[in-house]
Amino acid sequence: MAVKRKKIGSAGRLGAGYGKIKQKLIAVERKQRVKQECPFCKGHVKRKVKSIWNCVKCKREFASGAYHLKNQKTKK
Ligand SMILES: [Zn+2]
Repeated sequence: MAVKRKKIGSAGRLGAGYGKIKQKLIAVERKQRVKQECPFCKGHVKRKVKSIWNCVKCKREFASGAYHLKNQKTKK
């Protein structure tokens, strides 16, 4: 019988013993993979360090969420 793979996505690299924290990790990492958009010029934004973001296009540096930009979808 084939073993069913759980739908834990990127958290699959973690072994046993992480339990519920995996669900939280998936939520964070899914957002991380979405393209981050600059709130000033809609350009591409890269994360410099935790919560410091740097826009490639307008070269602005600003603070936002640690792993993804805040208010990405609510701004529309
Ligand atoms: Zn920009």
